[in-house]
Amino acid sequence: MPTMPSPNPAPLRYDPDVLVIGGGVVGLFCAYYLRRAGNSVTVVERGPVGGLQSCSYGNTGFVGTQGALPLAEPGVMAQGLRWLLNPESPFYIRPRPDPELMSWLWHFRRACNERDAKAGFRVLVDMKKRSLGILRELCASDGLASTFTAQGMLLAYRTRQGFEKACRAVPGTVASGVPLRVLGPGELRALEPDAEFDIHGALYNEEGAYLRVPDFVTGLARRLGDMGVEIHEHTGVVGFEVAGAEVRRVRTVHGDFSPRETVIAAGTWSAECARGLDIGLKLQPAKGYSVTVRAPGNAPRLPVLLGEGKVALVPLGDRLRFGGTLELSGMDTAISRSRVDGILRTVQVYLPKMESTETLETWSGFRPCSPDGLPFLGRAAPYRNLSVACGHGHIGMGLAPVSGRLIAQLVAGERPEMDLTPLRPGRYGGGPSRRRPRPGR
Ligand SMILES: Cc1cc2nc3c(=O)[nH]c(=O)nc-3n(C[C@H](O)[C@H](O)[C@H](O)COP(=O)(O)OP(=O)(O)OC[C@H]3O[C@@H](n4cnc5c(N)ncnc54)[C@H](O)[C@@H]3O)c2cc1C
Repeated sequence: MPTMPSPNPAPLRYDPDVLVIGGGVVGLFCAYYLRRAGNSVTVVERGPVGGLQSCSYGNTGFVGTQGALPLAEPGVMAQGLRWLLNPESPFYIRPRPDPELMSWLWHFRRACNERDAKAGFRVLVDMKKRSLGILRELCASDGLASTFTAQGMLLAYRTRQGFEKACRAVPGTVASGVPLRVLGPGELRALEPDAEFDIHGALYNEEGAYLRVPDFVTGLARRLGDMGVEIHEHTGVVGFEVAGAEVRRVRTVHGDFSPRETVIAAGTWSAECARGLDIGLKLQPAKGYSVTVRAPGNAPRLPVLLGEGKVALVPLGDRLRFGGTLELSGMDTAISRSRVDGILRTVQVYLPKMESTETLETWSGFRPCSPDGLPFLGRAAPYRNLSVACGHGHIGMGLAPVSGRLIAQLVAGERPEMDLTPLRPGRYGGGPSRRRPRPGR
């Protein structure tokens, strides 16, 4: 179990082989594989593991091969501009004179081309396939079995144009290794006997799967505790001490650590956490919302992506969760009523006969987004003993397992199972004041 903070915590003295910063799904998978490789591992987490603050708390948990297209794809800028003035739209940028946002948008726009989107898609599909394999194995055991369902997923399209566009992309998607196919009306009825969709057509991905969050995350943390990983909750990192190309100390609100290796996996806060290190992470928090309701009797049985509306719907036993919206509005956790209404209205349009039930929770979380839609994963130059695993954007649940395994391979000095060049943390250059680290900073 995660270690709870005592009211007057003593300074932390135990120095692990590896310190993982961040107890979201990515940090926990890093800890899992690092521990399996024989390291002593400690996780420090600013809040509670699996808590509301983390993006791994209230998301829709889709994993499997669907959804590997980077956010930066051709046409997305034009679509985004059209949506800007609609208060219920699934995409929004709050205009503000923020140089980091401007720089991020500039790189995002550059990545919105066919070639980069295809290359990014190939990398992400590969990562998602490997992660699905890991989840199947990991969740076969008792503790986590109830948090993972792999029965395929639906993609529903309301308009003829939307459906035809999706159908045109099927052969290319299948050629990339994603088992997507067009469903006939009879097949849809057989898969979803209770739900009544008002749609033009649907696709089915047999490799669609989902995790129940936050139960999966808290279950994984328990598993780590059993494996001997120490988890310190409410222990935020506040700084680093470096000497030459080495991170010597990691300062937390409850004392310092001097690990042999450090991994930054602090989600959208990773850039802020690493600020003094000048490793050049370019991240924007992309706020999304989820609404969890008591499951109506005629809800879909499978997870569904409502295509044009960009809303995901996931069945969670006696609950049903809808998730959507991507807002670049900084670290503002406020819940916009109009965007939540937009999500609910989208659901109503695709499933007009679904009974409305009690709302149990409305949540907002920050997706950690890189401009090109690929995570930052690897050694963080110029440091010999610092690695980074962040920037998993809208698909971090589906990418976290293999991310953890890759980090463990790097820390062990092994050749990673995938080419990590496209994911290298320094691909946008150093921070604004990149310089040689001075001792004692
Ligand atoms: C509405 C919504 C729906 C989504 N749906 C899906 C989906 O269906 N499938 C999917 O794959 N992904 C989905 N995502 C994305 C997914 O949730 C994220 O990619 C993923 O949770 C990121 O995990 P993480 O561990 O990198 O970050 P987080 O889960 O945010 O974890 C980072 C942790 O670091 C901690 N931290 C921060 N700073 C410090 C510090 N200085 N010291 C110590 N700890 C620190 C934070 O408290 C936090 O707990 C969705 C996101 C949203 C918002």
